[in-house]
Amino acid sequence: MTTAATDVVRQHLIDPEICIRCNTCEESCPIDAITHDERNYVVNPGKCDNCNVCIAPCPTGAIDSWRQVAKVEMYSIEEQLKWDSLPPQRELADAEGASELPPEVERIVAAASAGQGGASPPPWSAAHPYVNLYPAAKPAVATVSGNFRLTGDGASSDIRHIVLDFGQAAFPVLEGQTIGILPPGTDAQGRPHHPRLYSVASPREGERPRYNNLALTVKRVDEDHEGRPVKGVASNFLCDLAKGDTVNVIGPYGTSFLMPNHPGANLLMVCTGTGSAPMRAMTERRRRRIPLKEGGSLMLFFGARAPEELPYFGPLMKLPKDFIDINFAFSRVPGEPKCYVQDRIRERAADVAKLVADPNTFVYICGLKGMEEGVAQALADACREQGLDWDAMLPTLRAQGRYHLETY
Ligand code: NAP
Repeated sequence: MTTAATDVVRQHLIDPEICIRCNTCEESCPIDAITHDERNYVVNPGKCDNCNVCIAPCPTGAIDSWRQVAKVEMYSIEEQLKWDSLPPQRELADAEGASELPPEVERIVAAASAGQGGASPPPWSAAHPYVNLYPAAKPAVATVSGNFRLTGDGASSDIRHIVLDFGQAAFPVLEGQTIGILPPGTDAQGRPHHPRLYSVASPREGERPRYNNLALTVKRVDEDHEGRPVKGVASNFLCDLAKGDTVNVIGPYGTSFLMPNHPGANLLMVCTGTGSAPMRAMTERRRRRIPLKEGGSLMLFFGARAPEELPYFGPLMKLPKDFIDINFAFSRVPGEPKCYVQDRIRERAADVAKLVADPNTFVYICGLKGMEEGVAQALADACREQGLDWDAMLPTLRAQGRYHLETY
């Protein structure tokens, strides 16, 4: 007997081995189909309608997990809450019958096992990322080898470039990946603080080439979105670290927001504030490879309140103009009109559209959640203005791993 295709469903699950319990999925689910206990985050099979809204915001990709199951055998919430790891893909039919599954169902089974819920695939030429080498139960211990303030003396924000050395521990990362920091101590309920994620700001060979280290860009959080004073647990812990201090690190994470490796690839990067971390990693990777003359252009749109608030302002200004086309947008310079990255994109519409239309171009957007819509609209307007069909282009860009978004 084979399982009829109509009796088979694609069940949305969360990989408990990769999930860092950050609650992003539960917050983003529009129909409250995600729940959790002290152990696991799980998807309610009776509620989830596979809308995929939760997929992109998940920082680790744990949410992008799927199994093809017979409708009558869907994994219940109770079962999922007990898992330490995802179960393997079940056989849906006996050996003889399996070959009789329609090709479409077989394709879905393969996709379900691999996880393809909605995040863009990585660029075709991206290097293989390692993920979750160090879970919370067994973190890597890194030693601080530097902690430098990036923002000017008069700046309202304290943004720091923090260099972590992994000593003898293998901690391979790619530009665009994130790592998790485990702040020491416990929360008000006496539980260990949950991990906080930061993008790696250095290239894969290390902040210092051939050293086993990486850099983070961390803003000290001392107020919430409404301007009320709060003390960010992880950011204050990190910003106060001194050389020689140790930090527990988990990860790495991220299989989508990765850079292309083939010669001639163009990068269009749009970021605000500390969302510049992955852009700095990618730019530095490409800068170190200038002597190889691999071709491809870089265009950057970078938004901050003012020049003194902009991380990496000095080093960026020193980069050769024929290497990277930099466009700053400052929103709070006294006497000047407020300017956002999307305004600069519109000013450069012709160049932006030309770049996006090039099949060798890969787009990266990172920073504040609020910028997402405005930037997408500006890119759409720039392309339409140049006679391009943005509505047709966007799904293609995503499917080809050429459009990547990471906003918080
Ligand atoms: P910020 O200083 O608050 O803002 C940076 C700039 O973005 C300001 O000029 C701001 O203008 C502008 N902005 C505000 N709303 C905007 C909108 N709707 N469209 C376009 N621009 C807008 O930024 P931040 O505090 O550094 O925040 C950066 C974000 O990146 C955070 O959400 C962080 O979680 C995220 N992130 C951080 C990392 C990391 O590794 N540290 C990695 C990835 C992402 P005004 O405020 O003057 O209006």
